[in-house]
Amino acid sequence: MSIKQTIKYIIGFIYYNVYRRYQTSVGNRIVLYHSIGSKLDHDTYGIAISKEKFTEHILYLKDHYEIIPIDENYQDNLDRKTLSITFDDGYKDNIYALEICEKYNIPFTLYITTGFIGQENYLTAEDIKRFAKSQFCILGTHSVTHPHLDTLSYDEQYKELEESKKVLEDIVEYKITHFSYPHGSYDKHTLIILDKLGYNTVGSSHVGLNTKDNIDMKKIKRIEIIASDSINSLREKIDGYYDYLMIKENTI
Ligand SMILES: [Zn+2]
Repeated sequence: MSIKQTIKYIIGFIYYNVYRRYQTSVGNRIVLYHSIGSKLDHDTYGIAISKEKFTEHILYLKDHYEIIPIDENYQDNLDRKTLSITFDDGYKDNIYALEICEKYNIPFTLYITTGFIGQENYLTAEDIKRFAKSQFCILGTHSVTHPHLDTLSYDEQYKELEESKKVLEDIVEYKITHFSYPHGSYDKHTLIILDKLGYNTVGSSHVGLNTKDNIDMKKIKRIEIIASDSINSLREKIDGYYDYLMIKENTI
C-alpha cells in the first residue's frame, strides 16, 4: 500500500467505525469494474483485475448479497439491502464477465464507449450483439470519445451523448436509456441533455449507498473496484468505508 492509500484506509477505518456502521445499510450499493484479465498499457491505477480475482469476487458477492439489475424497477427495490454490478468502457475481456454472470444468473450493466468499438482490447459490434441477447446484461453508453464532459460546450456534449446512443441502438436494435459519466465528469448541461435524449438511469462516480431518501437517477452512486482489492477490501468498500469520499478521485 502506498502512503496515500494507507492514509485513505485509516480515514476510512475511523469513518466507518465511529460513524458509518451506525447508519443505515438498507439500500443499493453498486460496484464498478473496468477490464478483466487484460494487460493494458495505460493502466497505472489497476483498472484491470485478474480473471481469478474477478471470479473470486463474483462468487463472494453472489453468496453474500441480493444482486439486482439497474432497470426500470430499480427505484422500487431500494427498500432492502442489495448490490448491483457495473462495467465501464466496453473492454473485450468483459466477455469473460458475461460468461461468469450468465453461469451464476447475475444481472449486470455494461456501459460502452462507442468510439472504441472494434479497437484493440475493446468489444466489436458482433460481441456487443452477444451481450444484447443475454437476459442478464443491461447495456448503456459511456459517450463516444470518453471526454471529461464538463470541459465541453453544450453542443459538443450533446453530440457525445446523442451519437453514442444512436450507434449502440443501431447495433442492438432497441432503445438505450442508460448512461455512465466518463471520468465521473458532468455539469448542468449534461443533466439537461440526458433528459432531452431520454437517458433515465445514469451511473456516476459519486461514492455512497443509494437509498430511497437520497436516490438521484442521474447521479447513481458507485464505488470502483481495482486490481488490488481483496475480498476483505471489497467487503469494506461495500460496507461504506469510503463513503466519506463522496466523489472519487482518479476515476476512469
Ligand atoms: Zn470510462
